Amino acid sequence: MNDMRPQDSALTAPPVREPVERALCTDCGVSRLEDPKACGRACQFIQPDYPAMEAKVHGRARDASRPDELHFGPFRRMVRARLNAPRNGAQWTGITTRLAETLLEAGAVDVVLTVAPDPEDRWKPVPVLVTRADGMAKVRGMRMGYAPLLALIEPVRERGYKRVAVIGIPCQVYALRALEDELALDKLYVIGTPCSDNTTTDRFHDFLALLSDQPDTISYLEFRADYQVELRFDDGTVKTIPFLKLPISKLPPDFFPLTCRTCVDYTNVLADITVGYMGGEGDQWLLVRNETGEELVSRLGDEVTLSEPGGKGKRKASVAGFITNTERAAGGLPLRGMPDWVRPLVAWLMPKIGPRGLEFARARVEMKASETVLHLRRRETARMKHMIPDHVWRLVEPYGLKPEPGERKSADS
Ligand SMILES: Cc1cc2nc3c(=O)[nH]c(=O)nc-3n(C[C@H](O)[C@H](O)[C@H](O)COP(=O)(O)OP(=O)(O)OC[C@H]3O[C@@H](n4cnc5c(N)ncnc54)[C@H](O)[C@@H]3O)c2cc1C
Ligand code: SF4
Ligand code: SF4
Repeated sequence: MNDMRPQDSALTAPPVREPVERALCTDCGVSRLEDPKACGRACQFIQPDYPAMEAKVHGRARDASRPDELHFGPFRRMVRARLNAPRNGAQWTGITTRLAETLLEAGAVDVVLTVAPDPEDRWKPVPVLVTRADGMAKVRGMRMGYAPLLALIEPVRERGYKRVAVIGIPCQVYALRALEDELALDKLYVIGTPCSDNTTTDRFHDFLALLSDQPDTISYLEFRADYQVELRFDDGTVKTIPFLKLPISKLPPDFFPLTCRTCVDYTNVLADITVGYMGGEGDQWLLVRNETGEELVSRLGDEVTLSEPGGKGKRKASVAGFITNTERAAGGLPLRGMPDWVRPLVAWLMPKIGPRGLEFARARVEMKASETVLHLRRRETARMKHMIPDHVWRLVEPYGLKPEPGERKSADS
């Protein structure tokens, strides 16, 4: 058992087992359960069935005839949102942790499963059980890396908790939903965030070291929707770097593991509510997916300002350019091929002419879908048929990416 540290009365990190090594795996925690074979029925990298899971969780699968569902999965409504009193230490305004906090305050759940910063490395996520509302302040913010969140299913069972909330990224949420019936809970709330381009915490430290000569003082990093990376430092300094001026060419080609280049669920379609930013034009972006998601938003009452999401620009050229660069990079990182002298010009232009708001979110989802196809085709062709859901093929079709024989499940069967 690994003792993963943070302990106080509001928040505990129970010890978890060692993982079982698997080929495509983000250590969501299932392989650390007493029965690691549960991975076979839980893993999004083995044989996911998104239409069936969406129907089970939301009452219906995504409906491509409804605006934006092909891209973002089933939802009842989509809103821009911000907490009127942004929380200290939150990644954006703190809606994600505030939602869970309201559940604990109201006594609607016994426990929240999420990740806290490791006391010795603030960027390393450690799975924790939060049982008091004041514990949520300690888990705010984004960390880079993988945390075996679902290993906490066992301590939850042992302690007899029956009303549970989970904050998770998509690969964790897929496995959670796949095992949900076995957990026999009275109530489960799933608060999801989008996720893309994750990597190991060690690798992330290498990236920070390229961005500053004092990387240990970086307290915050975000890839904003205005094409800037925002860095905050312990002394209060804030620095922004345009995406295209990032030192990508200095990163190793396998900086992002194959899992995160090929996972097919950017927007966390099996969560009750997805809390992100990429369709929010500077605010947060909520996808309220079902009745439980509506209940969660209503708990925020007048603490939150909601408005209609909008969008500007056209994504087609950006996505097509990204696909060309990804193909050209032959498995490496897409922006490596751009000549240095072009970068500052394009970096200046992108926020002005590039897609924004919902159009930016659609562009990112299409880019990720194309990465899935291109990287699996290069590295794991045999998995394509099982790993790529039909909607991903539909997203990339307008860019001329079509399944080759044996690559698509529905076309073959
Ligand atoms: C690796 C990664 C990539 C992301 N990429 C995108 C993206 O491309 N587009 C987008 O719209 N949103 C993305 N997000 C989500 C985004 O960063 C914000 O977390 C989200 O918008 C919520 O902001 P908030 O202020 O409400 O969060 P907060 O209230 O600060 O809460 C954040 C919650 O996320 C949990 N968390 C932090 N790090 C991790 C982790 N590594 N694994 C699991 N849970 C974690 C925290 O424990 C906390 O519960 C990403 C998140 C992660 C972890
Ligand atoms: S990601 Fe989770 S379910 Fe998939 S193989 Fe790894 S531990 Fe198992
Ligand atoms: S990018 Fe996908 S596979 Fe990687 S951590 Fe995020 S949800 Fe999991």
